[in-house]
Amino acid sequence: MQTLSGDHIAAWLERAADELEREKMFLTELDAPIGDSDHGVNMARGFTAVRGRLDTLDRGDVGALLRDVGTILLSTVGGASGPLYGTLFRDAGQKAAGAAALDLAALTACLEAGLEGVRRRGKAAPGEKTMVDALVPAVAALKAAQSAPPPAGARSDGGASMADALARAAEAARAGAEATVPLIARKGRASYLGERSAGHQDPGATSCWLLLRSLAATAGA
Ligand code: ADP
Ligand code: MG
Repeated sequence: MQTLSGDHIAAWLERAADELEREKMFLTELDAPIGDSDHGVNMARGFTAVRGRLDTLDRGDVGALLRDVGTILLSTVGGASGPLYGTLFRDAGQKAAGAAALDLAALTACLEAGLEGVRRRGKAAPGEKTMVDALVPAVAALKAAQSAPPPAGARSDGGASMADALARAAEAARAGAEATVPLIARKGRASYLGERSAGHQDPGATSCWLLLRSLAATAGA
């Protein structure tokens, strides 16, 4: 697949709801030592609400779909991450306004707009042990994939396929999430612990990775 349609996005959101339900305890356990043990529950609640509303949302306009998802997340996830994920999807949707499908360049622009929204709203810089630490490398990987040569014997129209690019982005997000372990949290609840926040993986960076892994799987990676 070279573009993501509204139906693909809907399939991703269903898969993400399953994934977050499956990984709920994992995320919540990550949130225990440096937070309040609710990140997995928060994310599963939000994406289950999205799944429940999918049939009512307009899939013909990917931008409107992503914006509506952001609105649902804003009112259902809660915690610090609810407004941040809500902003991510709403700003991504704003970028995609009117599009029936996203090619790799458009998808990259959407995720970058979502990241900018998260940074504007949460004021976190890279290295402060937040979602930003997974999203920044993911956006960089999508940009790099656009100029990367295709795999040997694959297509000849330049750049990686959607699935390859998303697999690289998910892998970059995973590495970014794991790299939060030694960091000292500077934002959010974990920052109250100061140096004691070091030695634990950030739950929000980890949920970003899970969402990108679900998207890559939807694209066939
Ligand atoms: P809460 O901290 O209110 O319990 P969650 O547990 O759902 O909310 O989410 C915690 C996650 O939110 C953190 O792991 C971190 O990734 C993310 N987060 C918190 N504050 C910020 C911020 N200012 N900018 C970016 N991400 C943040
Ligand atoms: Mg929490």
